[in-house]
Amino acid sequence: MPQSITRSGPMDDIVARKPPAPVKRTAPLKRPSRAEAEAAVRTLIAWAGDNPGREGLRDTPRRVTDAFQEYFSGYGQDPAGVLMRQFEEAGGYDDLVMLRDIRVESHCEHHMAPFLGVAHVAYLPNGRIVGISKIARVVEIFAKRLQTQERMTAEIAEAIEGALRPRGVAVLIEAEHQCMSMRGVHQPGVKTITTRFTGALERDASYRDRFLQMVHGAR
Ligand SMILES: [Zn+2]
Repeated sequence: MPQSITRSGPMDDIVARKPPAPVKRTAPLKRPSRAEAEAAVRTLIAWAGDNPGREGLRDTPRRVTDAFQEYFSGYGQDPAGVLMRQFEEAGGYDDLVMLRDIRVESHCEHHMAPFLGVAHVAYLPNGRIVGISKIARVVEIFAKRLQTQERMTAEIAEAIEGALRPRGVAVLIEAEHQCMSMRGVHQPGVKTITTRFTGALERDASYRDRFLQMVHGAR
C-alpha cells in the first residue's frame, strides 16, 4: 500500500492520520475570459506600484496570460490516458525500469512561485511495460498544475500503479522552491526531497536501496 504523503500546513492537525481526500481539480464553475485574465495581470502590475499603461508594460498582460497557459497546461490532460498505450510484452524483463533526472518545472500552490528540480521514477514490471517517454509525460502533466511537491510525488506513483499494476513503484523528487529562495526565509540552494514507494519497493529494503543507489550513483 502506498504510504501516506508528508504534508505540512495548518490543516495537518485536523486531517492527521486520515487518508488524503482526492483533490478536486475541476476549474471554477465559470472560467474567466482571456480579457478578464489580462485585466487581472494589469491589476497586479498596478498593485506592485508600476503603471500598466506605460510602453514597456503594455503587452505584458498578454504575455503573462500566454505564459500561464503554458505553466498550467496540465489541467487539460489525463495522465491515465497517456499510460493507456502500454506494451503488453515485457519480453521476460522483470527488473527495475528507471528514469533518472526527469526535469520538473512546477508551481507551488501556496505562492504560485516556481519550483524546479528533477524526478526519478522506477517501477518493477509485472509483465507489462510502458514506453519510457510516457513516464516523463506523466511527470510533466502533474507538474503543469498548481502543486505541492508532496502531492505530486504521490500522484505520479498512483498513476503508474493504476495503469500498469506493477509489482512496485518508486518516485523521488528533488526540487528547489523559489517561494523559499526568493522570499520568506530566503534560503537559496535548499532542496526539498520527497519520496513515494509502493509494493515491493516499499516492502523490500533491498529494492529500495538499489533504487536510491541508482538515483545517487555515478552520473
Ligand atoms: Zn510556496
